[in-house]
Amino acid sequence: MDISVVVPLYNEVESLPELTTWISKVMAENRFTYEIILVDDGSNDGSWEMIGKLAENNPFIKATRFRRNYGKSAALNTGFAKAEGNVVITMDADLQDSPEEIPGLYRRITEDKYDLVSGWKAKRHDPLSKTIPTKLFNKVTRGMSGIHNLHDFNCGLKAYRKTVIKNIEVYGEMHRYIPVLAKWAGFTKIGEQVVEHFPRKYGKTKFGMSRFINGFLDLLSIFFVGKFAKRPMHFFGSIGVLSFLTGFVSIVWIISDKLYTISYNNTHPHAQQAYRDATEQPLFYIALAAIIIGFQLFLTGFVSELVSRNGTDRNKYQIDETI
Ligand code: UDP
Ligand code: MG
Repeated sequence: MDISVVVPLYNEVESLPELTTWISKVMAENRFTYEIILVDDGSNDGSWEMIGKLAENNPFIKATRFRRNYGKSAALNTGFAKAEGNVVITMDADLQDSPEEIPGLYRRITEDKYDLVSGWKAKRHDPLSKTIPTKLFNKVTRGMSGIHNLHDFNCGLKAYRKTVIKNIEVYGEMHRYIPVLAKWAGFTKIGEQVVEHFPRKYGKTKFGMSRFINGFLDLLSIFFVGKFAKRPMHFFGSIGVLSFLTGFVSIVWIISDKLYTISYNNTHPHAQQAYRDATEQPLFYIALAAIIIGFQLFLTGFVSELVSRNGTDRNKYQIDETI
């Protein structure tokens, strides 16, 4: 099979007939063998009944339904598990992405040998309240992930080589960072293609402003997990030891300073000043805090190390080839 089109959808009943006919039309024109995998993310507007009706007349539709709403990432992950095509295309159900882009994306994967090609909505049809934060979001993600050639990480329209989607796991709200997940999994040929973008035709957006806060927190965790999940001690341990040592050296300094002033400065005119209590100087409290924090960080690292040692995928690696 050439192509699997994976479509996550949540309450998109009005768009579905148009979307599926359009995809099938493009596929037929290009003589692709394909499947359309619709994942109904717990819709309650009759989307599922609509899918049932459409599937009667369209043998290429395969569909799964969640009993409740889990989110776009969960829907994508489920769709990915079912996909059988050599190239997997993801697409939003709301007709903001155009199925006409499919052949172009397909060729970027098969001919130009890309692992992942992300759509770039160069000319967007979304409100300003969304486009401005998105610019910032993309900039931060570019910087943190080191994928400098993508302008639009969160574009719903993307194409993947089959091995990519079979080897990454999209969970939580990580659908915004699939290129980053792919990169962590060792797929480095990541490209971009300008795609057309339309205003939402029916219904309304499913993500509010919270997307930006959650999105940023997810970026932090993805970065952290990607880098340190398999070696938490290297992260917590190193700052812990650093903090502990800073505190320890300060304490040694405070004590020797005290001893020194006691032994040699008795006759000094400012002896009163020299004799102030150790607890009267700010450094004492800084040192105390540094030692306690350092020790706790170290313990956190140690406990995380024990936890990750119990993880079932502790020895799961991305294997490219074996002979
Ligand atoms: N979606 C989903 N589950 C959710 C929220 C959204 O499957 O919990 C789907 C939605 O139906 C659409 C796609 O994800 O097909 C993108 O959502 P939306 O168009 O609301 O996002 P936006 O275009 O505003 O970024
Ligand atoms: Mg949309």
